[in-house]
Order: sequence, then structure tokens, then C-alpha cells
Amino acid sequence: MRRSEPLEKAIVARIMAALRKIPGLVVRKRHGTVMGVTGDPDLYGSYRGKHFEIEVKRPTDTRSQLTKLQTERLREWNIEGGAMVGLARSPEEALAILGLRPPDPPRWACLGCRTYRWQSHEPPARCPNCGHIHFEREAA
Ligand SMILES: [Mg+2]
Ligand SMILES: [Zn+2]
Repeated sequence: MRRSEPLEKAIVARIMAALRKIPGLVVRKRHGTVMGVTGDPDLYGSYRGKHFEIEVKRPTDTRSQLTKLQTERLREWNIEGGAMVGLARSPEEALAILGLRPPDPPRWACLGCRTYRWQSHEPPARCPNCGHIHFEREAA
């Protein structure tokens, strides 16, 4: 990982700071312990009486993706538990999960191979296909 790529810990802190400003919202970080359920999301809380679960991934790292188990846990919270759930790489994406922002972050196209696409508020640090580091924001 390059020095410029933010750690998940840093983005978790930014997301929590943004969520704590919302009236009617309580957010907690789930600490991984032997008592916990493997694959449960990083953040949980309640917004106006509705439970939410958010898995946080690094904003510019294409290797930072949901595991199969994390996908299954999010699905369980959503389908079985009726919670608002999602993957967030930015405060904006976390707010979108709660219905507080437009749902779709921009898409970025790799200027090297022209085939790789990445959807988030920031472009990825490096294309996993061709290694290129320059991306172009696609028109919405
Ligand atoms: Mg995570
Ligand atoms: Zn590429």
C-alpha cells in the first residue's frame, strides 16, 4: 500500500465524525473480539428508530472489497433484520446508506486500459488491470 492511501481506521473516524453530526442518530464502532460474530460490519447504530449496519473499506484501494462473509452478513441484517445496510468508502457514501445523500457516487474510468471502472467519491490509487494511476471521472 502506498503512503497516500488512507487506512481504514482513518476513514472510519471520518465517517463516524460525519454521522455524529446528524440529529437523531447514534453510531458505534464494532470492535472485533472473540465474542463477536465474524464478518459483522464495522459500524452499527440507529437513525430515527431504524437500525443500520455499515461495512467500511479503504477509499482508493481496489483490493479493499467485501468478503463473501461480509456480503452475507450485510444481506442478513438487511433481509432478515430490516436494517439499512451498505458498503461505505467515504462519509458521503455512509450518508447515502441512510437515505441522506444522492445514492450514486461518480464512476471513474482508467485512462490506461480504458476498461476498468471504479465507483466511489475518489478514484482508486492504481488500476488493478494495467497499473495505471490516472482516472477520468465519467459523466453522470
Ligand atoms: Mg471494514
Ligand atoms: Zn487500467
